[in-house]
Amino acid sequence: MRALVTGGAGFIGSHLVEHLLGLGHEVVVLDDFSTGSAGNLAHVADAVTAVQGSILDEDALELATKGCDTVFHLAAAVGVHTIVNRPMESLRRNLLGTDAVLEAARRHAGRLLLASSSEIYGKNIKDNLDEDDDRILGSPLKSRWSYAAAKGLDELMGYWCWREYELGVVIVRPFNVVGPRQSGTYGMVVPNLVAQALHGRPLTLYGDGTQRRCFCAVGDVIPAFVALVQDERAHGQAFNLGSAEEVTMHQLAERVLHVTGSDSPIVHVPYDRAYEPGFEDMARRCPDTTRARELIGFRARTRLDDIIASVVAEQRESLAKDAVGVGTGEAR
Ligand code: NAD
Repeated sequence: MRALVTGGAGFIGSHLVEHLLGLGHEVVVLDDFSTGSAGNLAHVADAVTAVQGSILDEDALELATKGCDTVFHLAAAVGVHTIVNRPMESLRRNLLGTDAVLEAARRHAGRLLLASSSEIYGKNIKDNLDEDDDRILGSPLKSRWSYAAAKGLDELMGYWCWREYELGVVIVRPFNVVGPRQSGTYGMVVPNLVAQALHGRPLTLYGDGTQRRCFCAVGDVIPAFVALVQDERAHGQAFNLGSAEEVTMHQLAERVLHVTGSDSPIVHVPYDRAYEPGFEDMARRCPDTTRARELIGFRARTRLDDIIASVVAEQRESLAKDAVGVGTGEAR
């Protein structure tokens, strides 16, 4: 396989790049480093063809896609803070960007994996959401829902590229993927709580902390991306990918305190102060992953405490490096 990974310098993308290289595939990355970083790929830089540019830049996209047989489309404006603070730019990236990548894949590659999101189910709090469940979204004028709306349209475009143009499109809907290299800067809860615990600061939870989520290790979803795109039976379908281990945000914070050994307090921040007035969240979001299990044997095996421990280890290592840098006067 010669694979293009859009957004390959991001959190999930960099793990996917590593995995593809480990399987002996050739990898091209197209990333504008808006939320990703070159540092995420520093350890594999020699093995990757990197194109710095946007999926919205025709020349960069053409250069990156040419010669690739498979596209993993992960580049997107991600994170609630990003979407709420820069709604129009996020919409362009997530709609026009996907349209451009699908077109480029049609020209050059035979198949494409589209990273959609569990967010598309919106406020549907049913037990174990399956892929055919309804989407319940708030008003389109609430910027909070624009990510879900855009990802839903991305899925439609991907689906019809498969039906009309025979591009082998697979849609994945990851549910709260977590692990090393995930940045807390754009509102991701686990890296933020871990950083707060390690610095002895209060752990901040948005809302009342009763929202329920299932966190999945990045290492559990990546092999499924590759298996699905390579399996023609998966083309034209959407797949939930996530864990069955459900926790409230309050329980998550307690687990972070336990794993880090911190005695920081847990504090609550109202949604309208954290995001914007009238902000709506979903009370619950847990996946039914039967479809992926039956087709490719998908199972999320990593326990939440182990996922948290991997994030803690990464942040402790980074703190230790910073301390050495400060101690030696090294510029960092
Ligand atoms: P991330 O922000 O770390 O990765 C996104 C990457 O895309 C970054 O490297 C960013 O620089 C790049 N990018 C953004 N706009 C670009 C553009 N116009 N051109 C080129 N590159 C661009 O986020 P992530 O968590 O790794 O998410 C990867 C994908 O998975 C996204 O499509 C996201 O919607 C989807 N997803 C993630 C999760 C999760 O829990 N992390 C859950 C569901 C879906």
